[in-house]
Amino acid sequence: MDKSVDPCVDFYQYSCGGWQKKNPIPADQTSWGVYGKLYQDNLAFLRGILEQAASAKGKRDTVTQEIGDFYSACMDEAGIEKLGAGALKPQLAMIDQVKSAHDLAPVVASMQLELGGVLFGSGVRQAPDNSEQQIIGVTQGGLGLPDRDYYTKDDPKSKEIRERYLQHVQKIFELLGDNAETAKQNADAVMKIETALATASMTRVERRDPYKSKNKIKLADLEQMVPDFDWAAYFRTLKTRQFEIINVAPTSFFKELDTLLKDEPVANLRNYLRYHLANGYSPYLSSAFVQENFDFFISFLRGAKEMQPRWKRCVQFTDRDLGEALGQAYVRKVFSPELKASTLDMVRRIEDAMAQRIQQLDWMSPETKEQALAKLHGIRNKIGYPDKWRDYSSVKITSNDFLGDVERLTEFERHRNLNKLGQPVDHGEWGMSPPTVNAYYNPAMNDINFPAGVLQPPLYDAKIDDAPNYGDTGGTIGHELTHGFDDQGAKFDAKGNLRDWWTKEDKEKFEERTKCIADQYAQYVVVDDVHINSRLTLGEDVADLGGEILAYIAWKSATKDKKLQTVDDLTPEQRFFIGFAQWDCSNDRPENLRLRAMTDPHSPSKYRINGVVVNMPEFAKAFSCKAGQPMVNPPDKVCKVW
Ligand SMILES: [Zn+2]
Repeated sequence: MDKSVDPCVDFYQYSCGGWQKKNPIPADQTSWGVYGKLYQDNLAFLRGILEQAASAKGKRDTVTQEIGDFYSACMDEAGIEKLGAGALKPQLAMIDQVKSAHDLAPVVASMQLELGGVLFGSGVRQAPDNSEQQIIGVTQGGLGLPDRDYYTKDDPKSKEIRERYLQHVQKIFELLGDNAETAKQNADAVMKIETALATASMTRVERRDPYKSKNKIKLADLEQMVPDFDWAAYFRTLKTRQFEIINVAPTSFFKELDTLLKDEPVANLRNYLRYHLANGYSPYLSSAFVQENFDFFISFLRGAKEMQPRWKRCVQFTDRDLGEALGQAYVRKVFSPELKASTLDMVRRIEDAMAQRIQQLDWMSPETKEQALAKLHGIRNKIGYPDKWRDYSSVKITSNDFLGDVERLTEFERHRNLNKLGQPVDHGEWGMSPPTVNAYYNPAMNDINFPAGVLQPPLYDAKIDDAPNYGDTGGTIGHELTHGFDDQGAKFDAKGNLRDWWTKEDKEKFEERTKCIADQYAQYVVVDDVHINSRLTLGEDVADLGGEILAYIAWKSATKDKKLQTVDDLTPEQRFFIGFAQWDCSNDRPENLRLRAMTDPHSPSKYRINGVVVNMPEFAKAFSCKAGQPMVNPPDKVCKVW
């Protein structure tokens, strides 16, 4: 803490100032916060598990073999270095076989299977209007920069980033063996294609509206809309089951794609694929590729001063590709049944608080309240780790072919997704691995998910009293729960279907209340002259406020028969709020803040704390803040949704 600061003037500084001073950003990080630090501690812990698995002798169980060999292959820098760009030979030969736009489809499909979103995105997900049905969809994608806005904005900083990106693309072509002049021309061609795709893409704010992403059409209609892409060959290569209906969004993007296929010389399309192949695989290739990837994406765009040591990158790749194998070893060591039980108790109390809030809302009609309560009671709680672990045993994992291991595991994951087409939904599935220091709400599943990694000290500490635990972890639980009722979540019903369950009047009042929050956060400056894009962060900002209000009610009810003590001169109420603020103590690099302002739906740390407490009279009371002080919104400006 920084007790020289008045909590009523800047609560974040008061609670986190000491942490910020004592925790400068390590050279290999783009930001440094309580979550990030805990994740880094986890990496060191997981490294121990992986090194043990890698060096285990004799007969190993399946999980030990999988994670041990994958990690060994990743750590084999000498072997990877020797291969150089040669590792990409088979795929480059495949791209060379593209002689017309029509030949593109199977190559794009096979790159998407092994690498991810090339040209556009595709996958199977729950149908927006029938969450028990799983359908296939295609969506915008295919960019190298982190967002479509990087290609369309005209301010000097955006122009500078595009210039620097062009150099990066050129460098990748040079690493593939092109001479400087050819590489430059090829980079220009890639930029032209990506700019066309970006211009036809939805913004992140538009993508927050699930109705804008809903467009179920017949496959035959897609074939008519984009006749220059061989869809039959594409889906044959993906090995999807037969289907008639496909979700296509946004239409503008796919129309533009067809224009590109018609008008672009095929050599440019080939170069687009060559670039995305090498760029996408760069982190797994020889040091020249790894360095270029770091220089542009991590150093220039996000401000890191040094590359992370190899072992850290390898632990993260293992967590990403074998998360539920590594996760088994992790939870065995860190997650006890007692911890699961106490978290579940907290979740239930917070759900009870939400029910109480809904019933008491003075602006909502009884009809809508009934629907909101049904939605609340329909929420599934998932704590710690999945009941059933993902089985990777069908994948060949070697200790000496890292790129191959990554490709095969990516393909396994892609097929696992595509195989869901037409199948019943697995409600036990997780979208984050157990060691992840994060949590999420999924509107189509209507479930809240808290991996074991986020239920560890200092975030949740069974050894300390309830006040900071409720302020911190209780607030996180309330946050995820409130996502079910933010500007986006409120469009889905108890079953996870996109359905309007609001009366017209209640919806108007709800929108008026969320607008109060959007207006408040729009005032905050992220870096230089960049303000928060508060229509992008609205869901998170609503969840931050709602979550803390719920945590406060739940904490009061959990401790109503206890005599709460003052500790270190801080009242229990004060420690509740300090616990809240200290979940997000952090330092950030200006480059990273700028990138996040364009891509991250979360507000910067300082405003995730101060933006909440200004709206809570409980806070003003706890610290005896007076009207007119910065941490107290004037009565006519106090925002409250839930
Ligand atoms: Zn959130």
